Amino acid sequence: MTTLHISNWVNGVHAPPSADTLVVTNPADESLIASVDATSRATVDDIISRSLHNFKHGAWPRADASQRFNVLAKAASLLRTRMPEFVELEVRQTGRPVREMQAQLSRIPEWLEYFAGLARVHEGSVTPFKGPVVNTLVRQPLGVVALITPWNHPILVSMKKIGAALAAGNIVIVKPSELAPISILKMGDLFQEAGLPSGSLQIISGYGRDTGKFLCESKHLARIDLTGGLETYRAIAPGAALNLIPITAELGGKAPVCIFPSVEVELAVKAALFASFIASGQTCVTGSRLLVHTDIYDEFVALLTTRTKALRIGDPTDPQTQIGAVINEAAVERCAAFTARAVAEGGKLLCGGSRFGSKGFFFEPTLIETHAESHLACNEVFGPVIALLRCDSEDEIVRIANGTEFALGASVWTQDFTQAHRVADKIEAGIVWVNAHHLNDPSSAWGGFKTSGMGKENGREAYESYTKVKSTVYNYGVLPTWFDDVENARYG
Ligand code: NAD
Repeated sequence: MTTLHISNWVNGVHAPPSADTLVVTNPADESLIASVDATSRATVDDIISRSLHNFKHGAWPRADASQRFNVLAKAASLLRTRMPEFVELEVRQTGRPVREMQAQLSRIPEWLEYFAGLARVHEGSVTPFKGPVVNTLVRQPLGVVALITPWNHPILVSMKKIGAALAAGNIVIVKPSELAPISILKMGDLFQEAGLPSGSLQIISGYGRDTGKFLCESKHLARIDLTGGLETYRAIAPGAALNLIPITAELGGKAPVCIFPSVEVELAVKAALFASFIASGQTCVTGSRLLVHTDIYDEFVALLTTRTKALRIGDPTDPQTQIGAVINEAAVERCAAFTARAVAEGGKLLCGGSRFGSKGFFFEPTLIETHAESHLACNEVFGPVIALLRCDSEDEIVRIANGTEFALGASVWTQDFTQAHRVADKIEAGIVWVNAHHLNDPSSAWGGFKTSGMGKENGREAYESYTKVKSTVYNYGVLPTWFDDVENARYG
């Protein structure tokens, strides 16, 4: 049987296949989906040079705001038309249930529309510069930017970054995860059809340790935007720092779900199931620590355990499935190791804890009652293994919530208005939800504090991070005559 090969998208076409390839498999049944390029250093260098040429001479960095708006808005509408194809691909690459993927992908065109709109309405400014001077500040595109994306939300994360970077007029090189690159490789012709000039969006595949490394080592990049693990950030950061390349880093999390007694137990349980087990716990804001006030703890735990055991796990293409696969064998092993260590540290396994099925990579939704200092309560699992902690007071909930190195997402569940404000204010996290979890919108800045990252996706912040401010000073006073004007103190 011949394997379908999907090669890099470079300068508006799929390039000839590379000498080295890698295969992408479906984590739900271990079947082969396609092979893709394992892009070499020489090819990466060549694509960077072509991209630099495109930045210097191409149409996109010179396109006006209305042209950028039109292309991105058209891309959004084409994405809506091709939605079933992309949903199917995302389910196959990630093993995530089709219900969830349909819900997530149905919103992605909004990111392109939002950044299209932002590009269209964004205005420069005129400063109150002293004297007979007009000083304009305008934002210009940065240059060639590298987007390094993860496997867990291939299209969502890439589109957040691509939307912002293209709206601002940059030339974009995307390197999706080697575990799920296919849907992104197929975005090239969509943008082409939307009218994006060839060579403005380059899509290259390969392992992070090779292709990703080769790309991020270039001194010609104007920004690196990474979503991934802290180790990956640490591998990239020293070289980028030496080359003065700024980094946006969207890294891991250990989101606390803070549940107070004013919330009905039934509702609190639904909230926890959604926060913890969506995407089989493989999101950066998975509610991986349930911090529950002692007044409702026993009732909450009993109902949560019953409901967790009833979750439907299995074939992600089945619309009834609630828990799909984890990404690979290593993820199954990591879930098992976290479970074993939590139990060895005195944790009580309430349900789950084992691999599910004999084909594919599945792990049962798992609840472990543990304590705040345990390995499970402090480290990212990136799977459906959840720490449950009994807390005696609001202060204790806040203290434990803030007690890890991560500070990405957090949710607060309470019907007490003043408590909602008080707790949300004290929690150290880039995103705090009150009576919600996982809510996301293109207008709402997304990013972590502490070791969860720096910089933002979404919103004006993301758009502006893809621009540089150019200050132009127009003097309409007397033309400067050397030393006379120095005395007028108009020079800095
Ligand atoms: P990862 O760090 O292993 O890989 C991310 C990307 O980096 C991939 O494209 C990979 O090929 C590339 N890469 C790996 N090593 C590299 C190197 N040395 N140089 C350049 N590129 C390299 O992460 P993952 O397993 O794909 O994703 C899971 C992680 O991402 C979790 O920690 C999760 O919390 C985090 N994440 C964060 C967010 C967020 O918004 N903060 C969103 C999704 C995922």
